[in-house]
Amino acid sequence: MTAPLPESAPYWWEAARPAPLPELPLPETADVVIVGAGYAGLGAAIPLARAGRSVVVLEARDPGFGASSRNGGITSGNLRPSLDELKARFGETGAIAIEAESKAAREDLWRFIEEEQIDCDFALTGRFSGALTPELYEVKARAAEALAKRLGIESFPVPKDEVRNHIGTDFYCGGEVRMDIGGLHPAKLVAGMIRVALAAGAQIHGQTPVTAMAPQAGGHLVETARGTIRAREVVVCTNGYTDKGDPWLRQRLVAVRSRIIATEPLAPEVMERLFPTRMMMSDARKLSYYYRPSPDFTRVLFGGRDSTLAGEPAGPTRHLARQLAMIFPELDGVRLTHSWQGHVAMNRDMLPRVFDHQGRHYATGFCGSGVVWARWAGQKAALALLGETGGDTSFRFRPPKLVPVLGGKAWFMPGVFAWYGAQDRKMLKGRT
Ligand SMILES: Cc1cc2nc3c(=O)[nH]c(=O)nc-3n(C[C@H](O)[C@H](O)[C@H](O)COP(=O)(O)OP(=O)(O)OC[C@H]3O[C@@H](n4cnc5c(N)ncnc54)[C@H](O)[C@@H]3O)c2cc1C
Repeated sequence: MTAPLPESAPYWWEAARPAPLPELPLPETADVVIVGAGYAGLGAAIPLARAGRSVVVLEARDPGFGASSRNGGITSGNLRPSLDELKARFGETGAIAIEAESKAAREDLWRFIEEEQIDCDFALTGRFSGALTPELYEVKARAAEALAKRLGIESFPVPKDEVRNHIGTDFYCGGEVRMDIGGLHPAKLVAGMIRVALAAGAQIHGQTPVTAMAPQAGGHLVETARGTIRAREVVVCTNGYTDKGDPWLRQRLVAVRSRIIATEPLAPEVMERLFPTRMMMSDARKLSYYYRPSPDFTRVLFGGRDSTLAGEPAGPTRHLARQLAMIFPELDGVRLTHSWQGHVAMNRDMLPRVFDHQGRHYATGFCGSGVVWARWAGQKAALALLGETGGDTSFRFRPPKLVPVLGGKAWFMPGVFAWYGAQDRKMLKGRT
């Protein structure tokens, strides 16, 4: 008999569910309107409000409803392109500047959480990244050594016979550890950012979808389901949830589902065996997986891409449960309490960015790694708008190129995922 499907609301929402804020009348004017109340929008709102601007954040659902309250909470600051790919595109200096900014962005998040006293279970645990073949282990080992040398980041290779010091499995042929990555409770982080933004003087309006935006003399006209606002500046931070309110951006991002399953609470000795160093985990195949212990160290949260476009079909949950059991055979058949999904935003060159279009400012394209990048990019967009030097960034690129989405749906993704999945299966077969 197949097990019943688990709860489809995020596990994180049990401790910090996005909630409505008291409804306020919509102002007629604002210095800055920000669209989207996730890490990026709130990351922009805080410095702008602190600089004395009247800031109005408009959110289609309850504040924090998007990916920012649903993600894995791994503070990776990953970039999809490798350093060599970045060098080919931006030259040696450009690539090193981009990589150095990832280090600065991670450290800025740690500082922000501490200074603003955001209770979000942040722990700099380190991250183990498993290699599926001996060849991939060699690549990871060299990368770890190079990272330590270039940026002084504590990172080291883990040969096969030491893997069990970090993770309770024989699945990997070795791996790489970097100690500048940790974990946090994503929904508590976004709740904390809402608190900080409100205290700074920003207004946040939930249940207020923006339906259209247009430049007008001296600023922009922002139409919402609750009325129209004239804004001097607009910052768009809608990422994977971009909708008809910004048809231009919707043609430039591929919204992809990412899904996480949560196991029931496990015995403490099982958790200690599976996660002896309590690190975050990643497994870079064509279709990558990310997983971790919950912050209270009672359960496993296991995530990966979900190729479905709508509804809550059972397939992706069962697929993740099978992948979990491949890595941890003792979890085969474990009861799942939650399985939820959220949208990440990919773009053609797989780089996060800030850019301007029609006088509007954008912070978007976090390609599934926005816990570090979204707040950082939102903040950069805000500082640039204020004309402050802190607004300089190596991530100010051209707008993303057009992608062939239809009605906002990436119809081609199921095919892409099927192709990647087949390549992963071939690789796994080849090593047995
Ligand atoms: C399941 C999952 C796991 C992930 N795991 C990780 C991880 O472990 N580490 C990591 O670094 N990243 C991870 N990510 C990615 C990360 O969560 C995102 O990159 C990040 O939260 C993006 O923040 P944001 O503020 O740009 O967008 P969001 O938090 O998605 O916020 C966008 C908001 O815009 C609102 N909006 C959209 N259109 C309108 C409109 N017209 N009017 C008003 N409001 C609108 C939406 O309602 C939404 O609330 C994961 C994502 C998912 C879904």
